[in-house]
Amino acid sequence: MSMSSNSTSKTDPVSDVQSLRKIIHVDMDAFYASVEQRDDISLRGLPVIVGGQPNGRGVVAACSYEARKFGIHSAMPSAEAGRRCPHAMFVKPRFEVYKQVSQQIHTVFREFTDQIEPLSLDEAYLDVTSNTLFAGSAYRLAREIKTLIHERTGLVASAGVSYNKFLAKIASDYKKPDGLFCILPAEGETFVASLEIGRFHGVGKVTEARMHDLGILTGGDLRQWSEAELAHEFGKSSRYYYQVARGIDDRPVRVSRIRKSMGSERTFGDNLHERTEMLDILVTLLDDLIDQLAAKSLSSKTVTVKVRFADFSTFTRAHTQHKGLLDKGSAHRALPFLLDRALSLGQESGMQRHGRVGRRSGVRLLGVAFSGLAPLGEDSPIQLEMRW
Ligand SMILES: [Mg+2]
Repeated sequence: MSMSSNSTSKTDPVSDVQSLRKIIHVDMDAFYASVEQRDDISLRGLPVIVGGQPNGRGVVAACSYEARKFGIHSAMPSAEAGRRCPHAMFVKPRFEVYKQVSQQIHTVFREFTDQIEPLSLDEAYLDVTSNTLFAGSAYRLAREIKTLIHERTGLVASAGVSYNKFLAKIASDYKKPDGLFCILPAEGETFVASLEIGRFHGVGKVTEARMHDLGILTGGDLRQWSEAELAHEFGKSSRYYYQVARGIDDRPVRVSRIRKSMGSERTFGDNLHERTEMLDILVTLLDDLIDQLAAKSLSSKTVTVKVRFADFSTFTRAHTQHKGLLDKGSAHRALPFLLDRALSLGQESGMQRHGRVGRRSGVRLLGVAFSGLAPLGEDSPIQLEMRW
């Protein structure tokens, strides 16, 4: 495809950076469901749904390709999935196993690059620009990664290779399952032009409908719009749309060290004595933390409450969600229970040490922490119910 004369410039720093990078997007195929079919032979070849039971209020976290033929997809209520496919096999998620597999996959990644950006347990971008294996071929490297993942986990991944994250993600989806697809720098613009707008990463259902109303059905249609026109319709997302319509995406692969825990505490000038007051403060701390987790796309398994008494004796009590990740509601419900446990522990030990309660009846510090943090993935059922 020829570019208009004013859009090409040898001094354009974005274009120069684009042509230099090599990005691989790796995405496991029907991840949770494939793990279940791997571990239980009787599920192979059958429609498998991981998530809530069809007689409950849960949702589909993931489903096998056999189930997708019935129009079932993740985030669908399990009851609806059960109606569409009455003989489907419903399986509870086993997040511990999925996490172990995720670690195996990351071990493979790290053999080739330390530039890894996880998106969820089963999905990541790799920047392999500086790789020299396979004569520097990112395509052959992606094939090797797929092979090693299959050898070590028995599971199948799809991979997309391109010169930026936007195109690499589209490429991994393009030939799924067991896909391997490369979009070369010279092909990017043409590829995007023919792409349906609903397949653009970053264009959700609402935006897709808006764009359809405006006559934007493909990347080619989107390309007809100036940045100012897009800004008028779509506000701050307009620059991203303008660029990706031209195959441009300068977002770097962000290597994030995932924190294991995140906490917040408050010390009081005057010691607290009222339980309701303490609970109010804990709720405020909890809500702040939930917002912080959401901003980092993290979720958690364990919430801990910390109580420090006037004599500096400190007690903590924790609640751990053994199945899945904590949702906002269960974290809130755990708070009064954890506070009471910590308070009564303090009272009991105060009685033993001082023979009376009064010595440490005041509380000088309260804290809340989340631990067992995990990236919140597109496959995570929590995200579908509560966005945090
Ligand atoms: Mg996947």
